[in-house]
Amino acid sequence: LADRLQGTIKKITGKGKVTEQDVKEMTREVRLALLEADVNFKVVKDLIKRIKERAVGQDVLQGLNPGQQVIKVVKEELAELMGGEQSKLEVANKPPTVVMMVGLQGAGKTTTSGKLANHLRKQKNRNPMLVAADVYRPAAINQLETLGKQLEMPVYSEGTDANPVEIAKHAVNKAKEEHYDYVLIDTAGRLHVDEGLMDELQNIKEAVNPDEILLVVDSMTGQDAVNVAESFDEQLDVSGVVLTKLDGDTRGGAALSIKAVTGKPIKFAAMGEKLDQLEAFHPDRMASRILGMGDVLSLIEKAETDVDEKKAKEMEQKMKDASFTLDDFLDQMGQVRNMGSLDEIMNMMPGAGKMKGLKNMQLDEKQIDYVEAIIRSMTLKERTDPSVINASRKKRIAQGSGTSVAQVNRLLKQFNEMKKMMKQMMGGKKGKKKGGMNF
Ligand code: GDP
Ligand code: MG
Repeated sequence: LADRLQGTIKKITGKGKVTEQDVKEMTREVRLALLEADVNFKVVKDLIKRIKERAVGQDVLQGLNPGQQVIKVVKEELAELMGGEQSKLEVANKPPTVVMMVGLQGAGKTTTSGKLANHLRKQKNRNPMLVAADVYRPAAINQLETLGKQLEMPVYSEGTDANPVEIAKHAVNKAKEEHYDYVLIDTAGRLHVDEGLMDELQNIKEAVNPDEILLVVDSMTGQDAVNVAESFDEQLDVSGVVLTKLDGDTRGGAALSIKAVTGKPIKFAAMGEKLDQLEAFHPDRMASRILGMGDVLSLIEKAETDVDEKKAKEMEQKMKDASFTLDDFLDQMGQVRNMGSLDEIMNMMPGAGKMKGLKNMQLDEKQIDYVEAIIRSMTLKERTDPSVINASRKKRIAQGSGTSVAQVNRLLKQFNEMKKMMKQMMGGKKGKKKGGMNF
């Protein structure tokens, strides 16, 4: 998904203006990419419709170029599709909170039980107990016990002869007596959804009345994961989903459809086999991940919060008619400083590293200090028309700013290069330029 979108995004970010045709082109690519990623057809259709409605005719936020603006809309809609806000684990009014883990065989229930116990203790300072209710394979109990040992956490088990419903009941009673605040029940899975399994899970549910039924699904299985989620939810009315194996899934299709299809929130994401590789699921982060452009997006976020919109507009006009002065440059430096280091910003711009002329502009914070000092030592005339700055003026400026003539020269050279570049970017014919830089 990421690769496919990147191509289109590059095309669009390169332009000065986004036309309706661009939005069309972009959404067509988004649609194909999503279908390719195995996202449910109806989900895709609705999503595209919303993106179009929002993207076309929208005011372009200052500090972004129109291409980035479209990406922003796509990202927001993707996040919304996955539930918008982060969804937290329910907590029982009276401890213990009972969590039942359900899902197909191999989805990651047992591993996730261990990870969740670890998460609860580390992040929430809780005291969980694990319950081995998968009695069909001795290995399953051993697996959970091994995890319990690693975590130094109790595992309740009655061996393979006991009834899972009874095990669950006994475990919850024991947790009450011994003041554990979470009971995590690891249940059996099957290779496919079947009645026997569902009956057993329903019986456990009735017996212990869990606060959460977390459906564990393997994100690598794409559209199948969505179908599995649908049938488990029909039978058990699950309260949330854990997506596992996201470390191996580059497509994100399952994540995108599950919430939309079942209406149940994704609460956790597992990104590896290790016990600390479980995270609360953040729809917006997942959206960035799916778009494969975390950096561009964080730049957008920075631009949103830090750039003074009105100023940016003025600046754009000045760039257009090439009346940009050293004073304006100084102003922009201030804004750049607000946004973090220039290097950081450069690194976030796709293709910026390769941009002609930018190599000489790899200023660090300290250099920004010099630049400020130098410009402040100039007269108003010098700032508006740097061509008047002759050798003796340079000497005076260097002295006044505590820099050297060489540094003054370098700044003037950079300023001229930048002005040239701006002219190319702002005034030139479209399609020629690369990024929408905002200096
Ligand atoms: P269960 O049958 O549902 O209990 O599944 P398990 O917990 O036994 O997990 C099945 C396999 O998937 C094991 O080899 C796990 O190590 C592996 N696994 C579980 N979660 C993840 C994950 O997030 N990433 C990766 N790469 N492997 C995982
Ligand atoms: Mg298991």
